[in-house]
Amino acid sequence: MSSKLKIKKTCQFCKSEFIAKTTVTKYCSHKCAQRAYKQRKKEEKVKVANENSEAKKSNQKTSSEMKISSPGQGGEITGEITNDVVQRGEITSEITNDVMTANEAAKALGVTRKTVYNMIKNGKIRAYNIHKRLTRIDRESVEQLLYFEPEESEEYDSEDFYIISEISKKYNVSPSTVYETLKEYKVPKRSAGKFVKVPKNIVDLIFKKFI
Ligand SMILES: [Zn+2]
Repeated sequence: MSSKLKIKKTCQFCKSEFIAKTTVTKYCSHKCAQRAYKQRKKEEKVKVANENSEAKKSNQKTSSEMKISSPGQGGEITGEITNDVVQRGEITSEITNDVMTANEAAKALGVTRKTVYNMIKNGKIRAYNIHKRLTRIDRESVEQLLYFEPEESEEYDSEDFYIISEISKKYNVSPSTVYETLKEYKVPKRSAGKFVKVPKNIVDLIFKKFI
């Protein structure tokens, strides 16, 4: 590029013809160059703003989708959310044989989901938070509750109480049926360590119908 060059050019800003001193000169004057520069900056800003609003839009879309999949808005009860999501089969792939949903655990134990969450809190069953609003319950810890043998517990008082597996065995009904029945009859339950104890006399009265 030589300053001796005299090139006829059209100003890219004001469109007027001018004699350029270099081949890369685009504008007739410093003023036009500045105006063009400002315009470019402005356009860039607008572009960025558009991109941002696009991003915002897609974020909003995501969060509204998330809202749909978590009907417990405000997240009062994790169980509600987990259950609903699972019921729509959205995260079924995450469920393995080793874990179960709060709903499944509740069904298996014949208790409400709220009770399941209390049991998690009390350490009676193990659970993992896959993420903030998604809890998976360790299947083994639930099954332990259902099938534990009385001789494995020192806390167990065999004199006046049954544990669930005993009732299940004696009356040949599934542990979950036992739980459901106990719940149905509002049989007072006591917890002893890992076990739920129920008064023998009441249980025998109720479960006679199963014989
Ligand atoms: Zn110009």
